[in-house]
Amino acid sequence: MRKIQKPLRKCLKILDLKPKILFAFCLRDLFVFLGIFFCTGLLVIITNLQSFAVYKDIYQDTSRSLPYSLNILNIAIANPRNQVSTDNQINTSQVNKINFPTAKTHPLPEILQKWEDKSNSGDYFDQVQPTRLGYLVWSNFPVKIYIETPTNINQNQAEIWVKTVYRTVKEWNSYLPLELVNTGELADIKIIRKAPPLQGNPPRARSAQTTYEIYTKNNILSHRFTILLSPTQTGEYLIAASRHELGHALGIWGHSPLATDVLYFSQVRKPPLISTRDVNTLKKVYKQPTKLGWQVE
Ligand SMILES: [Zn+2]
Repeated sequence: MRKIQKPLRKCLKILDLKPKILFAFCLRDLFVFLGIFFCTGLLVIITNLQSFAVYKDIYQDTSRSLPYSLNILNIAIANPRNQVSTDNQINTSQVNKINFPTAKTHPLPEILQKWEDKSNSGDYFDQVQPTRLGYLVWSNFPVKIYIETPTNINQNQAEIWVKTVYRTVKEWNSYLPLELVNTGELADIKIIRKAPPLQGNPPRARSAQTTYEIYTKNNILSHRFTILLSPTQTGEYLIAASRHELGHALGIWGHSPLATDVLYFSQVRKPPLISTRDVNTLKKVYKQPTKLGWQVE
């Protein structure tokens, strides 16, 4: 013991520090360390709580959607985007404090009003999920769509990609008024060539993903969609994925059990065109009440 104490005393002498002073230094360092430790812990808990709140929304609204889906639909309610710093953006903590408007129906868009199915093909409206905002219908027409020109492929390929996606916009335009816009800032629906994040356990790649967020504009509760189409999708598969996801973004927030419908839950070898049942379903959706498009109280 004395052998150990001797070099220690020597060392203290060199440093000109008395054991009491050294002890005080150690105690101070310990408090600083504990302070940092608890603050970091608290930060981790708070961060996780927030991401849990967002995830809960995603889970709630997709829990009844089909587990076999290749194009899983996601809902990211009020997921704050850092690059947009507008005052009217609602963040996750605000979303629960908002006095949402009462859900009411909007006038049926003219084209859907005139739509008649003489073949009595039926619909799959019972598969469409109302969200906590009600049905995801648009009430301000034309719906503005932005197709982002891909920059990580050559110009020719990028043009083909945009044209292919545009084809599906034109198809849906026969049933709801849509309009292309030149900037994402103005868009109600943004379509981007980007791989959706992996999901599930084990993580799986998906061909497409559609998410929406809500915000207020002039006190009106509004929503906007982002569609990600995986770069792995080309030709007929790209058309099918784009057509399907646009169906979700226009209000069909669910899947059809029939492979002959665009909103069928899985990809098929021969992708169908927009079916009578798809339009019948769309029309029914637009007759439903929603909190979207009405003034926040
Ligand atoms: Zn889908």
